[in-house]
Amino acid sequence: MTDSPIRHDWTIAEVEALFALPFADLMFRAQSAHREHHDPNAVQMSTLLSIKTGACPEDCKYCPQSVRYDTGLERETLVPLDEVRTRAQAAKDAGATRFCMGAAWRSPKKRDVEAVAAMIREVRALGMETCATLGMLTPAQAHELKDAGLDYYNHNVDTSPEFYGEIITTRTYQDRLDTLAAVRDAGLNVCCGGIVGMGETTRDRASMLATLANLPHHPESVPINQLVRVPGTPLAGEAPVDPFDFVRTIAVARVVMPKSFVRLSAGRETMSDEMQSLCFLAGANSIFYGEKLLTTGNPDVARDRALLERLGIHTLTPPALAEPAEHVHGPDCAHAHAPARPGAACNATRQR
Ligand code: SF4
Repeated sequence: MTDSPIRHDWTIAEVEALFALPFADLMFRAQSAHREHHDPNAVQMSTLLSIKTGACPEDCKYCPQSVRYDTGLERETLVPLDEVRTRAQAAKDAGATRFCMGAAWRSPKKRDVEAVAAMIREVRALGMETCATLGMLTPAQAHELKDAGLDYYNHNVDTSPEFYGEIITTRTYQDRLDTLAAVRDAGLNVCCGGIVGMGETTRDRASMLATLANLPHHPESVPINQLVRVPGTPLAGEAPVDPFDFVRTIAVARVVMPKSFVRLSAGRETMSDEMQSLCFLAGANSIFYGEKLLTTGNPDVARDRALLERLGIHTLTPPALAEPAEHVHGPDCAHAHAPARPGAACNATRQR
């Protein structure tokens, strides 16, 4: 029994109680969990490219890519394969180990999946891990992307099930969970997190993290975003998040999903070096690296390099770019979607 066991039965009240701890106590819990499962002085670095920008039919209230909001964003069609290769090589040369490709679709069409599959093969050939975020997927599409060599699929729950309807009305929370199940069942690693600062309560933050932690298998990557209040979106006027509340969210994510990579994601551009350092102390061990996050800004590479050097943090190299290790069921395995017989092969991949 470890001090930070992998649990899938968190109640919202238990997670709320973590948020309510004195800051130092919560940070100690998070640091303990972090050191039990991770190198505390390493971060994984990904670079994100928008491969198709804007004109999304969905109504996510935080998003400048929705066709419903006038944010002055220029629409772009699918980026050519050559450009993806060039951008991925540049990201690799700058130190990123994973290349994420994001497209503003409700769900990709057949030709879209084929085009992204070609991109995945190109990026994989450069020796990088691959991640995609393309909207809702069917099980067949998830398998097609997996077969092309995709390592991770990002699909965020965004917020709690209770608050979700205030933010998005064009797809349901269950739609999100269905895509996550399709992705997991295809053997892909799951990247799934949410956004802080959309007007949600602390209970909503606790409920969101309980939802993620109670999935049959914790997401390998948990992005925690601070809302970027883009003018023209309905959430542009939201009050800024208290920095300590944001750090608490990172820390609680670390405690309830101790093995996952907790990613300090959108909003980092406006965070001081000191706040980012607190996030690393709270258990964040992954960042987006590069000048842009889809359509919003990100700290420049030189500033990130300098900060990591000042903190003595090194870049984590993925253990292998081969297929994710097959997980074999043990007596405690909680993968509800897979054969539960100990020793049977599981189509969920091992947590990294
Ligand atoms: S978050 Fe994604 S699905 Fe929602 S509007 Fe933006 S691009 Fe579309």
